[in-house]
Amino acid sequence: MKYDYLIVGAGLYGATFAEQAKKERKKVLIIDKRNHIAGNVYTEVIEGINVHRYGAHIFHTDYKDIWEYVNSFVEFNRYTNSPIARIGDEIYNMPFNMNTFSKIWDDVFTPEDALRHISEEKKEIDHEPNNLEEQAISLVGRTIYEKLIKGYTEKQWNRDCKDLPAFIIKRLPVRLIYDNNYFNDKYQGIPIGGYTKLVENMIAGVEIKLNANFFDDTKYYKSIAKKIVYTGPIDEYFQYSLGALEWRSLRFETKIIDKENYQGNAVVNYTGHEVDYTRVIEHKHFENKQSNKTVITYEYPTNYKKGMEKYYTINDDKNNQLAAAYRKLALQEKNVIFGGRLAEYKYYDMDDVIKSALESYKIHKM
Ligand code: UDP
Repeated sequence: MKYDYLIVGAGLYGATFAEQAKKERKKVLIIDKRNHIAGNVYTEVIEGINVHRYGAHIFHTDYKDIWEYVNSFVEFNRYTNSPIARIGDEIYNMPFNMNTFSKIWDDVFTPEDALRHISEEKKEIDHEPNNLEEQAISLVGRTIYEKLIKGYTEKQWNRDCKDLPAFIIKRLPVRLIYDNNYFNDKYQGIPIGGYTKLVENMIAGVEIKLNANFFDDTKYYKSIAKKIVYTGPIDEYFQYSLGALEWRSLRFETKIIDKENYQGNAVVNYTGHEVDYTRVIEHKHFENKQSNKTVITYEYPTNYKKGMEKYYTINDDKNNQLAAAYRKLALQEKNVIFGGRLAEYKYYDMDDVIKSALESYKIHKM
């Protein structure tokens, strides 16, 4: 055996595992079917600006050790995510906080005023919320639900909010202070120089083969390493023998604009049905880049079809059961470690992916 570990996929899970193995002088080979490293956190330089090619990524975590871990490879800036929501000709601050409430209701000045409106509106739901619509109304009332949640969520999932599980919306904080910070976590920022640099530095010195698809020669790849770390889709590994898992995909439209500042914020959410995209990202604002031009990306949620990229898991009962059945099969695969968003079929934040890879290395190390 030429290698201790063959790592399939150069995203955050694979890079973290590889970094740990490298530190212990293990022989590691990373392969990736794409022509670049860093998976979906990959950033590419356009007009001197780091463009998040597979969707905007903002690093945030409550784990001090994970924050220190990523900062040991590259310096992070102090970017704080504070998206703007646009519906028709109106602009609101996100997440739901006193800035939002005072603009929604013109007699709101204090937290007490906001609470009065919210508790009046949420009376509509007098039972435990059964779906996303009921959950949203019982959180912030119907006015905000209809302006800032309904359209965005229905575009993102291509389903009526009444048919979506309540848990999706629990991610969104509600605050009775004038604070537009989207995340509650202690640490937040963007790697200075881009995520590609972060991953590059993590795996410096590790052998990498790009444009290499594990499934083009599974037999060969299985023969060259003592253990395999597989971070691709779990159903594909088993040749879809139990059926295909469902995903939501995204389509990105990126434009270079001959303007210094297009929208004044990195993230603008379009929360109504009058446009098909959910967000417009202006990449330069993630790193406060000075340049005469700017690069923006429209994000369109789409139904996944074969050949597209897989982005969001659809964690309904049907898909969760299928994923659990694949996980059972995975347990029988000797010397193969399944990890990350695609292999675990999990809606993962970046810090949790890294944490899970660090833990997995400890469990499986030779
Ligand atoms: N959401 C919303 N309005 C917004 C932003 C988010 O209703 O302007 C809801 C929506 O249901 C979405 C969920 O919050 O599915 C999570 O969105 P977020 O942008 O945090 O998720 P990401 O795509 O960044 O993982």
